[in-house]
Amino acid sequence: MRKERFGISIPAELSKRIKELADKRGVTRSEVVTEIVRNYVNDLEHENMPHHCSGVMIVVKKEVEISLESLYETFKEIITGYTHQHVGDLCVNVVFVSGSSQRIENLSRSLNSCGCFTRFLPLHVKEPWRET
Ligand SMILES: [Zn+2]
Repeated sequence: MRKERFGISIPAELSKRIKELADKRGVTRSEVVTEIVRNYVNDLEHENMPHHCSGVMIVVKKEVEISLESLYETFKEIITGYTHQHVGDLCVNVVFVSGSSQRIENLSRSLNSCGCFTRFLPLHVKEPWRET
């Protein structure tokens, strides 16, 4: 794989953390930064390219004054199931979704606007938004 070299400036404290991670894993800083950038670029490409998507959305909220079930009802065409548990003082939902990636993004934004933290894990065998 052809590589390019270019200079970037990052906060010294972050550079130190990258160096520590690289040392701990026995790899170079370039390898750590490449992995981080690749994951970030993949995530952005995934968000930006409409496609049929399936995955798991983790939804966390400290105090639930709203009923997430009523919100889930609004997105019932993409929600195939969910679990709901309390972990300490946190309300944790694992929502299984399948459908339009844009609709999944809308669900995530709606949950965020209700004060929920969300993290989506797409379950792709390959990346369908890529030609190669
Ligand atoms: Zn996807």
